[in-house]
Amino acid sequence: MAESTGLNEACGVFGCVATGNWPTDLDVPHTIYLGLIGLQHRGQESAGIVTSMGNKNSRYKIKKGMGMVNGIFHEEELLKLRGNLGIGHTRYSTLGASDTSNVQPFVVETLHGLIAVAHNGELTNAKSLKTKLLKHGVGLSTGTDSELITQLLTHTPECGEPHGANWIGRIKRIMSETVISYSLVIMHDDKIYAVRDPYGNRPLCLGKLLPATAFAGKKEVDKDDLDGWVVSSESCCFNSVGARYYREVLPGEVVELSKEGVKSVYIAPRPNDTPPAMCIFEYVYFARPDSIFEGQMVYTVRQRCGRQLAKEAPVDVDIVSTVPESATPAALAYAKQLGIPYGEVFCKNRYVGRTFIQPNMRLRQLGVAKKFGPISENIKGKRIVLIDDSIVRGVTMIPIVKLLRAEGAKEVHLRIASPPIKHPCYMGINIPTTQELIANKISMDKLAEYFDADSLQYLTVEGLKHAVQQGIKDDENDRVGHCVACLTGQYPVKIDW
Ligand code: SF4
Repeated sequence: MAESTGLNEACGVFGCVATGNWPTDLDVPHTIYLGLIGLQHRGQESAGIVTSMGNKNSRYKIKKGMGMVNGIFHEEELLKLRGNLGIGHTRYSTLGASDTSNVQPFVVETLHGLIAVAHNGELTNAKSLKTKLLKHGVGLSTGTDSELITQLLTHTPECGEPHGANWIGRIKRIMSETVISYSLVIMHDDKIYAVRDPYGNRPLCLGKLLPATAFAGKKEVDKDDLDGWVVSSESCCFNSVGARYYREVLPGEVVELSKEGVKSVYIAPRPNDTPPAMCIFEYVYFARPDSIFEGQMVYTVRQRCGRQLAKEAPVDVDIVSTVPESATPAALAYAKQLGIPYGEVFCKNRYVGRTFIQPNMRLRQLGVAKKFGPISENIKGKRIVLIDDSIVRGVTMIPIVKLLRAEGAKEVHLRIASPPIKHPCYMGINIPTTQELIANKISMDKLAEYFDADSLQYLTVEGLKHAVQQGIKDDENDRVGHCVACLTGQYPVKIDW
C-alpha cells in the first residue's frame, strides 16, 4: 500500500542497441517505448527517449515530455525517432522540481561529441559534488544530481586522453567521485554504457532481443540469433519487447553494449571492501513481481516474506487476506504456511487514478471507499488477518480497518511483511519525513489500538533479510548485501546532505 501513503521509486532507465547491419530494420524507438511502459511503475511524472544512428557526430533525436509514457509518445513521434540505438528514462522526482528542464535523458556536448545520460538513484554526496563542480566553473541548470553525473562525464580524466576519447576513464572517474546511488545508461556514438554503482543500490540488467521468428514459432531459434541488446532497470519489461533475460549488471560493473555484443569493461571496487547494499525495498514493494534480481524472482521473495511472517507472527483466524494487490504473494504464502484459507475482502477499482480535485467534504470523507469495495460475504462474522507489504504514514490503514468493521468483521488483525520504516532514504526513494512516519509517531504497543485492530505485528529486519537472501546462490554474488537503512538507520555510506 506504499503508493498511496508516501513511498515512491525514483526512476526507470532503458537502452537498446540493434545488432546486424545498420541502418537496422529493428524498431529501436518502439522497443524503448515498450520498455518504458514496462517500467512505468518506477516513475509517472515524465519520460524521454533519445536515439541516434550511431555514426560519429550523429545528430541525436530527442522527445521528452511530462506525464505518462503513452501520453507523451505517439506513432508519428516514434517514427521520427528512428535510429540504430537509443536510451530512455521514466521519472519520479526526488531531487529537483517536477518540470520539463529536469526530464531525462540529458543530452550534452562534450569534447568528443554528444552524450545522452539517463540516471536512476540519488547521490549521497550530491552537495559536495555540486560545490566542486561549481568551483570548477561548471554552470548547472536543473537542480538534479543526474545533471552532476552528466557534467562529470564531460571532464577529461586525470590520465588525459592521448589516444582520443576515453569513456571508460571518464566513467571510472565518476565512480571514484561518488559511490552510491546510481544505475546509468550512457549513449555515445555507436555504444551504450550500462553502469551500476559499486554498492549495486539500484537494479540494472541485460536482455537479448530475440528475432521475430522466435515469436512466430516457425523455427527453432539458434541461441546466437539475436536482433539486439537491451538494458533495463528491471527485467519485467523484457517479455513485452521480445527480449530474453541475459544477466544482471553487477555492483560496480560497467558493461559496453554495441552492435558487436555486450562486454564487461570494468568493475569498480567498494570502499574498504564493504558488502553490496542493494535496496531491500525493491524486493518488498517497488519492483514488479515478475522482475528478477540476484537470480531470483521478486514474486518468490515476497512469498518467502509471507512465510517468514507466518513463522514470526502467527494468528488464529478464519481468513487471511490483503489490501490489493502488492502484498498478495505474501498473503498467499502466509495463509499456506498456517493452513488457513486465503480469501479476498476488497475489490480494487483500477480506474480511480489520482484524485486531484476533492470537490466537497462528503466526497473527501469517502476516502479509501472510492478505491476499495468490500466483499461482504468474506468479511461478515469472520476473524480476519490482513497482510500488507508496508505501512508508511498509516493514513490509509485506519479507514481500511473501519471498512472491515463496518462490514461485520469479528476480529481484524494486521500483519506487515516488512519491518517498521523509521528513517529517511537518501538513495533515491521518496520517504516522508521522520516525523511523518507512523512508526515514529506512535509506540509499537499502541499501534494496533491506533488503527483499531485487534493485533498488529511486523516482520523483523532479520526475518526480511533471511527471506531475501536465502534464495541467492553464492556463485552469483561474491558477497551478498542489502541496504536496510530506512529500517535501522545504518546507512551503507556516510551521508553528505
Ligand atoms: S534506505 Fe530504504 S528505501 Fe532507501 S535504499 Fe535503503 S532500503 Fe532502499
